[in-house]
Amino acid sequence: MVRKPLVAGNWKMNGVAASLAELKRLKERLGQSPVPDTDIMICPPATLLAQARYALSGGTIKLGAQDCHPLPSGAHTGDLSAEMLADAGAQAIIVGHSERRTDHDETSALVNAKARAAHRAGMIAMICMGETEQERRGEATLEVIKRQLDGSLPQDARAANTVIAYEPVWAIGSGLTPTATDIAEVHGFIRAELGRMIGQGEATDFRILYGGSVKPTNAGELLVVPDVDGALVGGASLKADDFYGILSAYAGRSAC
Ligand code: PEP
Repeated sequence: MVRKPLVAGNWKMNGVAASLAELKRLKERLGQSPVPDTDIMICPPATLLAQARYALSGGTIKLGAQDCHPLPSGAHTGDLSAEMLADAGAQAIIVGHSERRTDHDETSALVNAKARAAHRAGMIAMICMGETEQERRGEATLEVIKRQLDGSLPQDARAANTVIAYEPVWAIGSGLTPTATDIAEVHGFIRAELGRMIGQGEATDFRILYGGSVKPTNAGELLVVPDVDGALVGGASLKADDFYGILSAYAGRSAC
């Protein structure tokens, strides 16, 4: 089994209508020089989903969303359900990002409910997890990952409807990255835990992304680390040329 890499861009709370020019440029570059055997996704803010869907139509870039409410509808002012995001064109939802876990005190139980909501709406849940700098210094990384994985992964999670993103909190937006050895250790650990939770066959097919300061300059080293099946990219996904630079790490790859 060869896992198809996924490189997803998380625009976070960035982007207005004018930013769609970057999407169009990315689509053009991929039209001229496609990146084979790789899923490519952009997750803009919800305000841009409908326009982004239009801008990306006819191309290969998939559309994702950031966060959702666990319920399908109801009296929850300001929230968006997975069904609404699917209706706007999203095929996946980022849940459990450390910025949500920190800024909104989101627990793994809530992340689990949001991942289930994504599945209910027929979408892929991209479940994020990662340790803080203090936890890494305290050699608690694997313990934190185990706790977050146990709590956040719904029982119905399968390789076809779920992606894990390992994102060390201290690496996000900092320009710092773990060593290849450290990333391989955590990704291998996640895959082994997935095997325990949902079975070895399913775990082998699961995509585990690395996220945290992925740039065109380091993508070549990070994306070849064992058990790394792509990247979740923040800052460097905002500019088409930077994001394409990251995707280029897969350009020479051929289907097995
Ligand atoms: C992120 O927040 O998901 C992320 C990976 O950010 P950055 O690439 O900017 O570190």
